[in-house]
Amino acid sequence: VADQPLFARVAFIGIGLIGSSMARVMRRDHLAGHIVACARRPETREACLKLGIADQVTADYAEAVRDADLVVIATPISTNETIAKAIAAHLKPGAIITDVGSVKQAVIDAIAPHLPSNVHFVPAHPLAGTEHSGPESGFAELFQGRWCILTPLPNTDATAIEKVSTFWRKAGSKLQTMQAGHHDKVLAITSHLPHLIAYTIVGTADDLAEDLKQEVIQYSASGFRDFTRIAASDPVMWRDIFLNNREATLDVLQRFTEDLTALQRAIRRGDGDALEKLFARTRAIRRSVIDAKQA
Ligand code: NAP
Repeated sequence: VADQPLFARVAFIGIGLIGSSMARVMRRDHLAGHIVACARRPETREACLKLGIADQVTADYAEAVRDADLVVIATPISTNETIAKAIAAHLKPGAIITDVGSVKQAVIDAIAPHLPSNVHFVPAHPLAGTEHSGPESGFAELFQGRWCILTPLPNTDATAIEKVSTFWRKAGSKLQTMQAGHHDKVLAITSHLPHLIAYTIVGTADDLAEDLKQEVIQYSASGFRDFTRIAASDPVMWRDIFLNNREATLDVLQRFTEDLTALQRAIRRGDGDALEKLFARTRAIRRSVIDAKQA
């Protein structure tokens, strides 16, 4: 029927920058009959209702996915296995499960084994984002003209892939299909390494003597400020990317300086605390740049 939405019922598990931008596209183009948003914190859930991007909110995974035709997992990657285990028994037969994780093989390994055989998993990664987080930061145009990479498994249902593809085309994205392992290598160079460099440069600057640090912020327009924007990206999300795309990232890391070597050691040892601490520190530098009116 022409005026039926693409999906009658959609559940977002996690509805921050990416999830809320997808929900806004669904609202704009009437692609979802009913949207349920699932998040841990009451402020996230309240924001979704206030913004009008969800009809229903919950902190309960089972309640969120019940009767959903499409389930979008849009949380930090480290949560995916727990979420897959929690939703598996409550999924509607024939439901489509998709995700937006920035790493694909680890996400597939975390989610796919737990899903029942009567649902369809279509892993996806929109190559679009900003350094902001949370449902307020989303906007419907985020994906316009940007790539979305799908990494379906060999046995993934073609109709399910087509429905997910239709959503991304409506969002304005250009679509590409790749094997998950290949995706992870490409993204290690185009996205993960540049972010690692930015985190390293801003972290090194933060270690400088106080007077020099002030000058770095003062004169940041000469290049530093662009690294500070990248290095202000979400600490938890990027901790998870490096922990989950370890091999490909290490491959492209060889030539960098002492601080990069230190980061490399942290990733190899799986020291998420060290990474998160550094990433959280660099986020604060962005604030200094804005305060110095260099942004
Ligand atoms: P975000 O803005 O920080 O949003 C994360 C959302 O997940 C929030 O709604 C958060 O709400 C919720 N959440 C966190 N842990 C949860 C849990 N255990 N259970 C349920 N909800 C949980 O993050 P984002 O930027 O949208 O990123 C989400 C995913 O998109 C990540 O996997 C990332 O790799 C991928 N991605 C990000 C970008 C980007 O540039 N940002 C680009 C492409 C892909 P509560 O804290 O209230 O739970």
